Formats: sequence, structure tokens, C-alpha cells
Amino acid sequence: MDNCIFCKIIKGEIPSKKLYEDDKVVIIMDINPVVDGHVLVIPKEHIVDYTEMPDDLLAHISKIAKEYGKELMRKLESKGLTLTVNYGDAQVVKHYHLHLLPDYNIKEVEKTVEEVYEIIK
Ligand code: AMP
Ligand code: ZN
Repeated sequence: MDNCIFCKIIKGEIPSKKLYEDDKVVIIMDINPVVDGHVLVIPKEHIVDYTEMPDDLLAHISKIAKEYGKELMRKLESKGLTLTVNYGDAQVVKHYHLHLLPDYNIKEVEKTVEEVYEIIK
């Protein structure tokens, strides 16, 4: 999809801090984190939202999120993890993505994206 920011990231036309990649998905740092270690799991295929996602791709994303979520918590010493998918008016980027949000029992960002990337890359 020509005008999609996540498609451009996947094609390498826009820079991103990539943490994981396989044939179906990438995981990147969110550019505007709401908490330290806020990352996005994004399918390589342009699919607008969760209602259009094939079940096998959702299953793959769940598996990757489960594995990577544990790694994220271990590396950042977070006590919990929140997984979020926005839809409709709540979804700004119209290319499906799963937010992984480490939970530290505090709600502020304390580190820069670069500092967190150096810890978890
Ligand atoms: P939403 O569509 O509301 O679920 O959220 C879109 C998310 O994408 C927000 O958390 C943004 O900070 C993030 N985002 C937007 N542009 C970029 C980008 N170029 N690189 C990384 N994350 C991005
Ligand atoms: Zn796209």
C-alpha cells in the first residue's frame, strides 16, 4: 500500500528500530512510546485492522508476541505486560499492529527510545 507508513517501514523506505523479523512479521520500537519498551508487532502484509486479519496470521502474531513479550520483560525487568490492538477511531495507523507495553507499576516514560533500543536489541 503506497501511502502506508508501516508498509514503508517494512520495505525499508522509512527508518525504524527493528527488533525482530521473520517471513510474516516485524517488531519495531514505537516512535512515540507511552512507556519504556513500547514495541509494535506488525504483519508484513498490508491488512487494515484486526477484523480483516486471517486467523493463521493472528495465531502467528500471538505466538511471536508471547515469546518476544517474555524477552522484553526479562531485558527491561518489567513486572507485567499489556497487549493492545486499537480499532476504528482509536486506530491511527490503518495497518494492523499489536502494541506490547511493559508494565512497571508506574506510568511514565523514563528512558529515550535510543536508550531502550540499546538494552533490548
Ligand atoms: P494506533 O494506530 O493508535 O494503534 O497507534 C499507532 C502507533 O504507531 C502509535 O503508538 C505511534 O507512536 C506509532 N507510530 C507511528 N509512526 C511510527 C513510526 N514511523 N515508527 C514507529 N512507530 C510509529
Ligand atoms: Zn501497510
